[in-house]
Amino acid sequence: MKKILIFVMTTICLCACGDKKSSDNSKLKTPAIADFNYKADAFADMEILRYRVPEIEKLTVQQKELLYYLNEAALQGRDILYDQNGKYNLCIRRTLEAVYINFDGDKNSEEFKAFETYLKRVWVSNGIHHHYGNHKFTPEFSQDFFINEIKKLPETAFAKTGLQADALISTIVPIIFNPEIAATRLNQASGVDLITTSASNYYENISQKEVEDFYNKMKNPNDETPVSYGLNSKLIKENGKIFEKIYKVDGLYSEAIKKTVYWLEKAAAVAENEQQKSVIEKLVSYYKSGDLREFDEYSVLWVVDTSSHIDFINGFIETYGDPMGMKASWEANVNFKNLEASKRTEIISGNAQWFEDNSPTDKQFKKEKVKGIAAKVINVSILGGDSYPSTPIGINLPNSNWIRAAHGSKSVTIENITEAYDQASHGNGFAEEFVWSNVELDLMNKYKFQTDNLHTDLHECLGHGSGKLLPGVDPDALQAYGAAIEEARADLFGLYFIADPKIVELGLLTNNDAFKAEYYLYFMNGLLTQQTRIELGKNIEEAHMRNRQLIARWVFEKSADDKAVELKKRDGKTFVVINDYKKVRQRIGELLAEIQRIKSTGDFAAARNIIETYAVKLDPVLHKEIIERYAKLNIAPYKGFVNPVYTPIFDENNKFIDLEIDYTENFVEQHLRYSRDYSNLPSFN
Ligand code: ZN
Repeated sequence: MKKILIFVMTTICLCACGDKKSSDNSKLKTPAIADFNYKADAFADMEILRYRVPEIEKLTVQQKELLYYLNEAALQGRDILYDQNGKYNLCIRRTLEAVYINFDGDKNSEEFKAFETYLKRVWVSNGIHHHYGNHKFTPEFSQDFFINEIKKLPETAFAKTGLQADALISTIVPIIFNPEIAATRLNQASGVDLITTSASNYYENISQKEVEDFYNKMKNPNDETPVSYGLNSKLIKENGKIFEKIYKVDGLYSEAIKKTVYWLEKAAAVAENEQQKSVIEKLVSYYKSGDLREFDEYSVLWVVDTSSHIDFINGFIETYGDPMGMKASWEANVNFKNLEASKRTEIISGNAQWFEDNSPTDKQFKKEKVKGIAAKVINVSILGGDSYPSTPIGINLPNSNWIRAAHGSKSVTIENITEAYDQASHGNGFAEEFVWSNVELDLMNKYKFQTDNLHTDLHECLGHGSGKLLPGVDPDALQAYGAAIEEARADLFGLYFIADPKIVELGLLTNNDAFKAEYYLYFMNGLLTQQTRIELGKNIEEAHMRNRQLIARWVFEKSADDKAVELKKRDGKTFVVINDYKKVRQRIGELLAEIQRIKSTGDFAAARNIIETYAVKLDPVLHKEIIERYAKLNIAPYKGFVNPVYTPIFDENNKFIDLEIDYTENFVEQHLRYSRDYSNLPSFN
């Protein structure tokens, strides 16, 4: 699932208590789109963007103070993710940064430039493996260069690594340069031990079988409110004994968690209302106890808080980085409601039961009563942990199935991030290269921003929250295939309904043809252009990408006879052509019914079969063509962000009086500053 987040769908009042007048100073004025510099940096396969934080100037003084403390809490766990992504990542990052800062040679040399690019990629991925593809980066600078630079460093420069120069070199050089070692962070290939072949750091010295046995023993099939087993710990075998090291104050990652708690406690003191205060205090209590029951209590408090204007995510939430899909990476963001855009999601949520009742799934898999889907559109003020520098654009949390069933979920679309994506893509030539004709181009120009946002809303507000498991079905039954199946379910739900006349009736789209822009784009992406993100010869590993290819390929293959969707060649180039949108929608409905059946019944064999058949493999000839066409456009396939810089202003009595925001920090400056000010963990944990 994709998850997370926040706010309210009903009221538009800004807060329940506190100072309601907004301070209209100019330090927070949001620049106009036309005046804003969205592009911050570009290297390797990345483009780094900036995002605006519209309407921040409308917050009250108290809300600004709260926002500032939550922002700080969102940055304190940065080191945790590096360590989770790989045992050597913190040591490597610190060494790279020391070399970078102390380098006094020719900064225009090929070698130094390659070194700098490598460091930037490590920052983007919070480690030495690609954040999306999971493979280890190949350094394009030489081993000799690196070793020489380390030897030149003063001892103090790498003190934080905890190693002397020689030990440091013998420890990290093979990890960086030997392609055989730690080749992938996250192995999802079937038929091998997923734990021992993955370089992520959620397990140590233990086999997949031992992990499965350990957690199967913990699970009680009669427990109707099971905790998310293993979510906040590393599982280790030592001297034949298997045990969890819990992420908590005085446990694993204690130093970073303590700092996070410090800022959360300050935030609790200036919360907007009692309910929000109890949410923050419960999170603090959970960070101290590490007790997953408390995490569930926190999640319930959080999901029912729909009246606060400011909201946040801070914790061990998503499990995409664990090959077993159990252990969560640390992530954070802080956000507040975009009032105007939220009207759209309020309409969707207000009609949730209609959508559930009218979905093409089997009746026994539907929810009789869809509860509490709180949907809203937000603007983020900071991104942290696994949401930085690359972030999802929509979030739906919590992940716990029983909490979702009993209390609902919060769903958000992050509009200031989608705005940045959209603004940065104008005029890059992509659509002109890959779209079949002016008919589709025209549809996309007219409706794409609208339908894209709407599809994300439907995916998050309704898709993930729809349907139910049959009684007794293990929520983890689909194992490594669970994430892709869940994403497919949510995407299909959105695709099916975006073409429904009900959408126009509700005023969510202005035109009965608008959905075609989304369909065309979706199939173009799933059948062709998302392949630009995969290296030649590699398979698709990431859950969202698997889901997109699954849907596009399945519908395409079912259309072999009637050509409702087809691939056509023109001048040696392959294009998607959709000849019959109605039939395509009908097949989307059929696939949704099947995916829901797989999920509801926990049919592992069917999940494996459908994903391995449609979602994983690429046609090497087509893949090569797409990559070559794309390469000519010189567009980075991945985007990341720099955060704005916030500076609090206090009066002579140390009372918070205002907040300044600055958008000009660049990518390198930001990471060096974060590594200086928010680096809380030892190199080895
Ligand atoms: Zn999702």
